[in-house]
Amino acid sequence: MSAGAKSRELHGAGPAKAASKTAGGNKAGLRRAAPKAVSWREAEPSLAEVCRRHPDFPRLVALKIDVQRRGAAYTPSALAAVDPARHMTAVRSDYYDKEDLSPVSFSLRDGTLVFTEGVLAPSDREPYVVDAEGDRIFLTDQGQVLEEVFYWEKPQYYDQTTSSGRPMWQIVSARPQRLTIHPYQFCDFWKLRGQGCKFCVMASNFRAGRKAALLAVDDVVETVAEALKEPGRNVNIFLTGGTRLEGAEPLDAELACYLQILKPLTKLFGGRKFPSQLISTAFAPNQLRRLHEETGLTGWTADLEVLHPRLFEWICPGKARTVGYETWKARLAAAVEIFGRGRVNTGLVGGVEMAAPHGFADENEALASTLTEAENLLRQGVWVVSCVWRVLKGSVFAGQKAPSLEYYVRLAQGLDSLRRAYGLEADLDDWRRCGNHPDTDLARA
Ligand code: SF4
Repeated sequence: MSAGAKSRELHGAGPAKAASKTAGGNKAGLRRAAPKAVSWREAEPSLAEVCRRHPDFPRLVALKIDVQRRGAAYTPSALAAVDPARHMTAVRSDYYDKEDLSPVSFSLRDGTLVFTEGVLAPSDREPYVVDAEGDRIFLTDQGQVLEEVFYWEKPQYYDQTTSSGRPMWQIVSARPQRLTIHPYQFCDFWKLRGQGCKFCVMASNFRAGRKAALLAVDDVVETVAEALKEPGRNVNIFLTGGTRLEGAEPLDAELACYLQILKPLTKLFGGRKFPSQLISTAFAPNQLRRLHEETGLTGWTADLEVLHPRLFEWICPGKARTVGYETWKARLAAAVEIFGRGRVNTGLVGGVEMAAPHGFADENEALASTLTEAENLLRQGVWVVSCVWRVLKGSVFAGQKAPSLEYYVRLAQGLDSLRRAYGLEADLDDWRRCGNHPDTDLARA
C-alpha cells in the first residue's frame, strides 16, 4: 500500500470516531482536529507537474534525475532479464568480491544514462520500479509504465584476464562509452576520524574492514590496450580515486599514483594527448604542470562538492583542512592556465547544500547561493557540473532527504545557462564521456 493510500484510509476513519466521542460527552470531542498527514507525493510536485512547469526541459532528463533521487527497485522478472554474458552487472563494475548480478545501471531511449548503483538509505520516497515483460524492460511508477530502458552492454574485454591473472573487469570498469580506472581504491580522510565527506560511503567501506588497494600499473595498461581494440566504443579514459595525503609536498603520493599510470597510457597513444579526464584532490600548480607536461591528460577536475565556504568546512572537513575552500578555488583557476579554457571543471553533489542542520532550509536561497558562486568560478574559466545527491546507506548523511525534483531541474538549467553564457563547451564531461550530470545532458539541445 502506498503512503498516500494509507493516509486516505486513516482520514476516512477519523470523523466517525470523533463524532461518537462527542456524542458521549467526551472532552476529546472539543479538541481541534489533528492536522492532515501529508505524504511525500502530496508535499512535492510530481514528475508530470515539474515537466508541465518546465516545458523546455527534456522529460527524459527530468526522469533520470528523479530516478537517481528516489532510487530504482528491480522486480524478479527485471533481474531475470539480465544476461550476464551480455550485460554489465553490479559485481562487474565494482572492485569488491560479492555476488550481485543486478544490472549496473541502464540507459533511456535517447542515450541518457541513469545510475542506480549503490544502496540508498531508507526514505519515505518510494523508488521507481524496473519491471520486464518478455525481453523488454520498463521503468514504472505506481504501476504505470513510463519508459522502456536498456541495460548497459558489456564490453568485450570484460571476459579476459591480464597476464598476472586478474580479471580485466576488476581493473578497468566501463560505462557505455567510457573506461574508468580507480588506481587508489580508498581515501586517506577516513583514516582520520571525522575527516571524510559526509555524503560519501568510503567510511562504511573502511568500517567494513576493506583495505586500501592500489592497482598494478601493468594490469591497467594491458587492460586499456585490450579495451581500445573494440571499435567505436570508447570516447574517454577516466581516472579517479580517494585522496592520498603523503609525500614531501602534501598530495605528492596521489600525484605519483596518477603519473605512473598516465605515462604508459600516453605511450598507447603515441605520446600524444588523448581524450581523458582526471578527478583528483586539488593539486598545487607545480603538481598540475607535471600532469600536463609529462602525460597526455587533456582534462582535469577537482570536486568542491558544495559551493559554500561554511558548508564546505562542515561537509568536507578533510578537504577543508588539507587544502581549504579558497585555495581549492584558486587552484582550479590556476589549472585553466595550464590545461586551457573548458578543460577544467569542478563537481557538486547537487542538493547537499540543503543537508540539515547547517545547510539551507529554503530551496530558492540554496539555488541562488550556488549559482552565484558557480558564476564566480565561471568568470575564471572554471565550469561547474552537478550530480544528484543520492543519499547513500552507510554515509554520515544517511537519513537526510535530497531536495525536490523541481530544485534539481532549476539547478541543471542554471548551470547549463551559465556555461553557455561564458562560452564553455561541455565536452570534457558530457552525456557520452560521463553521463552523470543532468546539466551537461542539456548540452545536447
Ligand atoms: S575525498 Fe571525500 S568524496 Fe572523495 S573519496 Fe574521500 S571522503 Fe569520499
